[in-house]
Amino acid sequence: MSSAYLQCIEESCGKRPAPRDEETTCAQCGGLFEVRYEFEPFDVEALRRAWHQRRLSGEPIDRSGVWRFRELIPFVEPGDRVISLSEGSTPMVGTRRAGWWAGPIHLTIKHQGNNPTGSFKDLGMTACITRAVARGVKMVACASTGNTSSSMAAYAARAGLKALLFVPYRQISAAKLAQALDFGATVVEVGDTFDQAFKLLREIAPEMGLYLVNSINPFRIEGQKTIVVEMMEQRAWRPPDFIVVPGGNLGNASAIGKGLRELKEMGFIAKVPRVVVVQAEGANPFYRLMRDGDAELRPVEKPSTEATAIRIGKPANWKKARRVLEWTGGLAESVTDEEIFEAKTLLAEDGVGCEPASAATVAGIRKLVRAGKIERHADVVAVLTGNQLKDTEYVMRHSAASEANPQRLSVEPTLEALRAALSKHDLVPA
Ligand SMILES: *Cc1c(COP(=O)(O)O)cnc(C)c1O
Repeated sequence: MSSAYLQCIEESCGKRPAPRDEETTCAQCGGLFEVRYEFEPFDVEALRRAWHQRRLSGEPIDRSGVWRFRELIPFVEPGDRVISLSEGSTPMVGTRRAGWWAGPIHLTIKHQGNNPTGSFKDLGMTACITRAVARGVKMVACASTGNTSSSMAAYAARAGLKALLFVPYRQISAAKLAQALDFGATVVEVGDTFDQAFKLLREIAPEMGLYLVNSINPFRIEGQKTIVVEMMEQRAWRPPDFIVVPGGNLGNASAIGKGLRELKEMGFIAKVPRVVVVQAEGANPFYRLMRDGDAELRPVEKPSTEATAIRIGKPANWKKARRVLEWTGGLAESVTDEEIFEAKTLLAEDGVGCEPASAATVAGIRKLVRAGKIERHADVVAVLTGNQLKDTEYVMRHSAASEANPQRLSVEPTLEALRAALSKHDLVPA
């Protein structure tokens, strides 16, 4: 059997907490933990075949795009209940227009919006709620820009746990809030920013005995890292040149990097793709950290962007993410809300919908190609993190009905008026 343990990522610390200790923050230095393994030796080809075979199985644990790869996340003890909603197994979709616009590059989309609650958070949540249940936790909590809450609420409901959610006042999309409410979570609106809500939650969690499922929870990262295993399998184990993700709290970038590193060390892939993190200009402290080569992250006090999922001024996982850019020769980029909107429009022309934060990837790629940092015709995978229906307010804002908007016509209910309107707007097939 492989075995798992936690270890603080701070080199000067390296503490391994005792089994009943708190799992998200190191009591010795305040750093983050990561899950490490002593893997039993395995046969790469045999595992690839076993993973492939499981796709035909009817067992929920085999059908999940996270637990299908359970040999790489061996922290579940025999007899533990696995809390799954058949997450993962998301499609890879080629693009034409978006790839041409952003490059020209070979652009493939890994669409995480096709998850049970509509975002990549489900990959992490199945892992950390499974862990919470194994620890005998009764109540889970998170602060959220929206998608973590939808996901926590669903998996907590499935596991029979209470779910408590802190969100900044009036800052998250109606659809995400509705999901959390629908799944029975208790919602506390507190503070003006995610960072404020998150800070308060971290401070109050120990005394209230709350189990945190934000991405500082190292088991979230373990679930989320399986995205690259699935991606490589879908690509017949041929890594792309670049994998691009939007950066908020930077858990996803950290997970992708950890997954790639483990796959390389174990011999599943021959080279490691370069990981690219794209942030929104009004919430880009990680981009600035990497650009300026600073030793410490300088938080953004009032983060602002229409892409609410990445409206974060003080990303908790910045040290893990910086390691990932170092390991993989990665890049960071920053894009304006206008650039995000353009990229989202181009993806839509390929029939690919997503929420605004996800489209930041394609906007970032375009800038990096123009700057010569991504080569033309490079093989690039953009991770679209959330579903199109997560933020319909955004779309409606950007396509308000007006005289100037040819997509929204308002016509008198008579045949003459309809005929005239359709002809005038060229809506009659030639
Ligand atoms: C959470 C989220 C992000 C940011 O991911 P991090 O791991 O916090 O960097 C980006 N896009 C969407 C849609 C999200 O839900």
